[in-house]
Amino acid sequence: MRCRTCGSKAVINMPQHRLALCKVHYLEWLPAQTQRDIAKYHMFDNSDRILVAVSGGKDSLALWDILWQLGYQTEGLYIDLGIDDGTTYSRRSGEYAQAFAGQRSLKLITVNVGKEYSETLTQMAARTLRGREKPCSVCGLVKRHILNRVSVENGYTALATAHNLDDEAAILLANTLDWSLEHLSRGQPVLPSGPGFTRKVKPFCRVYERESAAYSVLRGIAFMPDECPHSTGSKQLYFKTYLNEWEESMPGTKLRFYNNYLKALDSGAFPARQQAPEDLAKQRCPNCGQPTTSGGLCSFCVLINKS
Ligand code: SF4
Ligand code: ZN
Ligand code: ZN
Repeated sequence: MRCRTCGSKAVINMPQHRLALCKVHYLEWLPAQTQRDIAKYHMFDNSDRILVAVSGGKDSLALWDILWQLGYQTEGLYIDLGIDDGTTYSRRSGEYAQAFAGQRSLKLITVNVGKEYSETLTQMAARTLRGREKPCSVCGLVKRHILNRVSVENGYTALATAHNLDDEAAILLANTLDWSLEHLSRGQPVLPSGPGFTRKVKPFCRVYERESAAYSVLRGIAFMPDECPHSTGSKQLYFKTYLNEWEESMPGTKLRFYNNYLKALDSGAFPARQQAPEDLAKQRCPNCGQPTTSGGLCSFCVLINKS
């Protein structure tokens, strides 16, 4: 397999793009591809202050590296969830994130959940019925709250997460199987800002997981090699396995699924959100001040105030 650009030995073949590239040209291609999507979906520009959510894994560090190389104003946020029982997962993930930021002299904010909220994610999850079965739903709630809080408090104008195409396709498949119109109506790569919440963007939404992994490896980025111990058996992994099988026999399946979904969204195939952001902003949690639809404490404050 030869690089399409220079003819030397290719290190990656991407049948979905009918493209093979050498290391040098791949390391140019992915940032250019990411920049095209940033512009296509009007995610942000050079005047924005971007907070990048980093986990210490391959996707988020690849994203931060690319945004940094593209010259955007970025700072990182690492949420130390305290998933450390026997695995030191959170501690080691944080070390990778800190090393990455230190090597590039980038600012990394760390929120330690155990210290700030008196309980680690593991302890919070163990206390609730929903979390005891599967900590991920509690984890999602905690991360969403902290990401929004830190981005609003510090005046960032965009919050970037490293959701890749495999993540987006798996979420889309799950929401389609459930016919969850509520979720299907807000799967855009950009969710606009409003009073009390920052614009959310997903610059890797059309980047395959193997593409971001290859980028990190070829760039020599040291990233956390282990998956979260709670990820095994998750529904998302199950859907990813099926999508990978389909992709194998029909290259481009994930990309077509997601692209055509975005076209359907654009054409108004799904009803608008029940509540416009400006309506949502009228209701604030009396404890933390974040927008909420509950009419009382937000779900996060209900979680942390439960004794
Ligand atoms: Fe949180 Fe679940 Fe992801 Fe682990 S796998 S970081 S518990 S969402
Ligand atoms: Zn080449
Ligand atoms: Zn609250």
